[in-house]
Amino acid sequence: MRRLRNSYWPLDLFAPMLSSPVSRPFTARNFMAKIIAMTNQKGGVGKTTSAVNLGASFAAMKRRILLVDLDPQGNATMGCGVDKRGVSHSAYDLLMNEAKLDEVVIHVEHSHFDLVPSNADLTGAEVALLDELGRELRLKNALDPVRDNYDYIIIDCPPALSMLTVNALTAADSVLIPMQCEYYALEGLSALLETVDKIRKILNPKLEVEGLLRTMFDARNNLSNQVSQQLTRHFGAKVYSTVVPRNVRLAEAPSHGLPALLYDKNSSGALAYLALAGEVLRRDRARPEILQ
Ligand code: ATP
Ligand code: MG
Repeated sequence: MRRLRNSYWPLDLFAPMLSSPVSRPFTARNFMAKIIAMTNQKGGVGKTTSAVNLGASFAAMKRRILLVDLDPQGNATMGCGVDKRGVSHSAYDLLMNEAKLDEVVIHVEHSHFDLVPSNADLTGAEVALLDELGRELRLKNALDPVRDNYDYIIIDCPPALSMLTVNALTAADSVLIPMQCEYYALEGLSALLETVDKIRKILNPKLEVEGLLRTMFDARNNLSNQVSQQLTRHFGAKVYSTVVPRNVRLAEAPSHGLPALLYDKNSSGALAYLALAGEVLRRDRARPEILQ
């Protein structure tokens, strides 16, 4: 495992803010990681922002986290301060069985989590896997041996219902769907839920919808409020009560290679993702069996 050198994050300084009401819900070693796919085929809805910032928030709460960048854009990789062009191994090598996970993983020291980086090579995996038997299982097979090493594995998916996303959904226990509360949001959602249903029937019977996350929310916008109400009416408790507001710090942080928690810990964006992490942990504590 290679280490990414960066300034050490004095976690104790953050302790008051991070002392969430959630106590550690399980003894980490007794459970395998829960694998969450951050998915929405719609582009620019906040998948990567949510993957990086939820990962950082979990890590700040002392959870062992692996973030898997499964998007050839490599935005999660860059957002963690890793140069996607400079990595010697990436998610591509994992999917092509050309490297084992510990050869690919980079430890992101400032955020206290591990990362499987990605870059444009991953586009080639889609084509190369076309003729391969069991191509949908490549990521699952790569992650299964390390599930004991983490509490949560978060997969950042590309904006398409492609073979990469199918690999993520086959490996995952659940799907977290970030969405903007706008007119076309619900339309895309039904296509995504149909795909989740198909994967559940054919490849991964245990796949669940983890939750729907409202992102880039602007409470002053009437349409946002209407769509938000519709979502809650249709999906009830699956909609997180945590709402991520539109916050410029969340947009700025990736250009510094940092999650918002390290870039501006008091920003509304950073606090929202801490709250989300707390909410996910509380839900899991209420249903510990899904972590088995
Ligand atoms: P893609 O589909 O291309 O992978 P995505 O769904 O991963 O996109 P992001 O890259 O996370 O979406 O976000 C899209 C853009 O919106 C980025 O520039 C990001 O910095 C910005 N952004 C995300 N969330 C917020 C927010 N809550 N407030 C302000 N800007 C945000
Ligand atoms: Mg993205």
